Amino acid sequence: MTALVLPPFVRLGGGALNELPTALRQAGLSRPFLITDPFMAASGTLERVRVILRESGVELRAFTGTVPDPTVACVNTALAALREGKHDCVIGLGGGSPIDTAKMVAVLAVHDTTPAALKVPHVQDVPGLPVIAIPTTAGTGSEATRVTVITDETTDEKMLCMGIAYQPRIAIVDYELTLSMPRRLTADTGTDALTHALEAYVSRRASPFTDALALTAMKRIWACLPTACADPGNHTARAEVMQGAFEAGMAFSNASVALVHGMSRPIGAHFHVPHGLSNAMLLPEITAWSLSGSPARYAVCARAMGIADENLSDDAAGTALVKALRERNAEIGVPSPKGFGLDAKRWDNLLPLMAEQALASGSPANNPRVPTASE
Ligand code: NAD
Repeated sequence: MTALVLPPFVRLGGGALNELPTALRQAGLSRPFLITDPFMAASGTLERVRVILRESGVELRAFTGTVPDPTVACVNTALAALREGKHDCVIGLGGGSPIDTAKMVAVLAVHDTTPAALKVPHVQDVPGLPVIAIPTTAGTGSEATRVTVITDETTDEKMLCMGIAYQPRIAIVDYELTLSMPRRLTADTGTDALTHALEAYVSRRASPFTDALALTAMKRIWACLPTACADPGNHTARAEVMQGAFEAGMAFSNASVALVHGMSRPIGAHFHVPHGLSNAMLLPEITAWSLSGSPARYAVCARAMGIADENLSDDAAGTALVKALRERNAEIGVPSPKGFGLDAKRWDNLLPLMAEQALASGSPANNPRVPTASE
């Protein structure tokens, strides 16, 4: 038996944003509160949403103060702003940070609890307010997942929170919103999505359903991410990477992520490395370390991505995959942690704690090869 949770109302493709009023109507929602970040407010995207909704008779109230890797303080401020009005749903507009903030605020609006009490192993299935996710990066897949990640700024912990309550009711997946992403952001968020697809496929909790989504996602993202980076206005490449990120989100939300994400979160929390970039730094080396745990499944990935042909043995295909991931990092300019400028002494001091935090998130237990803390 495979249990699946998927967003029930999806609009996918260029111009999908214009469908927001229809999707709200179909879901029986009429009083949205929108959560976004300062860039979306300044760039005019928030105003566009406001106008689209006004034309259908819906007036919008918004919070524009989300920070990257959203904190508990940011969530509480957004929650207080929501409570100043009467709302029946929460829209998250932006990258993973505003969408994740919206998910947590939607739960806290209904349940008297705190983000710290909601982190794994807690599972929050009882819903809060419905969430509408409108991604503007092609990366996290948060529009498709039953996951939110909130940083406890007092302990520098990125808290993974899971449960059906975080599954968006509506996902508006419009690649045109990603055309403004600069090269670095495109590369980092796209690699985040590629990592979701790879980790979902090799996860110990994968199923035939998530396999199908993961394989089609990694194929699209691998083929089109370099073009999206080099030619930001390329609609075909943007559309492919956006769809791939959405598929990868559905795949990992119903399988899991694994060791790369488990280790990436503490690096992001302690050193403020953007999430996609810390994934990219880890992906080739962790893939190399994990190959022996599932040579056949890594080989399928390499073949799906066009890195290895059918004649190569599984072992050779896995080796080719690692080589290609290293070359791709060089091509899109991913630095090593040292090259990024992380303080080596602080890194060494924090390593035992980061290993503990990685294991505590549960993600590494889904990896084909499960590490000990010392490994
Ligand atoms: P983000 O939301 O933090 O945004 C990063 C920056 O990009 C911001 O300054 C933002 O304003 C800018 N930006 C966003 N869209 C843009 C656009 N179209 N053009 C130009 N600039 C734009 O970045 P992210 O990588 O999308 O999200 C990262 C967060 O998502 C992390 O906290 C991570 O842990 C979380 N995450 C959540 C899930 C999930 O399933 N909930 C999965 C993976 C990651």
